[in-house]
Amino acid sequence: MTLIPVAVQIPVLIVREISPLESAVLSRRSFLRGRIRTVAPVQRPPWALDEVAFIERCTRCDACIQACPTAILVPAEGGYPTVDFSRGECTFCGECVSRCEPAALRRDALADEAWPIRARIGETCLAANGVECRVCGENCPTNAIRFRPRVGGAALPALSLASCNGCGACFAPCPVRAIEVKAGELGIGTMETGTQDMATKENT
Ligand code: SF4
Ligand code: SF4
Ligand code: SF4
Repeated sequence: MTLIPVAVQIPVLIVREISPLESAVLSRRSFLRGRIRTVAPVQRPPWALDEVAFIERCTRCDACIQACPTAILVPAEGGYPTVDFSRGECTFCGECVSRCEPAALRRDALADEAWPIRARIGETCLAANGVECRVCGENCPTNAIRFRPRVGGAALPALSLASCNGCGACFAPCPVRAIEVKAGELGIGTMETGTQDMATKENT
C-alpha cells in the first residue's frame, strides 16, 4: 500500500532578539512596577529629581558613583545609584551632579538644599541610656549635635534640625547605630524650636 503524504501544519514560533533600547525600557518598566508593589524608599544622591523623574532619566551609567570622592554612592536595586552612609558622608561637593549627563541629578532641582533628610537619634543611643558617649557630636561638621551635661548621668545629645544638613557623618561612627538619616521623622524627645532634645526622654 502506498502512503499518501498528509499536510501537517506545524506552528512556527518567531523569535527575534530585542534591541538594547527595548531591553532598557522593559527593565525600567519592570523596575517601576516592582517599586510600586514592594520597595521601601531609598536615598538617591544629592540634588536628585523626585523618584519617578529620577528613574525616567537615570541611565545607570555609574558616572556619579565613580565621581564621588567619599565613595558613598553605590548601585542598588535595578542598578540605580543610592547613598550608603555606612561608607562615609556627603561633603556636598557636587561632583556627582556635574557628572550626570542625563540631569537625573540637578543642582537647581531643590534650590540650595541637596535633600530633605536629617539625622534622627533613636532609642538605643548610649548617652540616652546612661553611658558616656559623644561620638556623633564629635563627628558632626555643622555642630548640629551638642551635649547637655546633667547631674548624676551621662550628658545628653540635643540635635538642632536647623543646623543638620543630612550629611550622614554621624551615622557610621555611632557604636550602636542609633542614628538614622532620613526625611519626615523625628527621633525620640520633642521638637523645641528646631531642637530634638533627648533630655525630654526621661519625662516621657
Ligand atoms: S555631593 Fe560629592 S560627596 Fe556628596 S554624593 Fe555627590 S560626589 Fe559624593
Ligand atoms: S550619573 Fe546620573 S545617569 Fe549616571 S548613574 Fe548617576 S544619576 Fe544615573
Ligand atoms: S547628619 Fe551631618 S549635620 Fe546632621 S547631625 Fe549628623 S553629622 Fe551633623
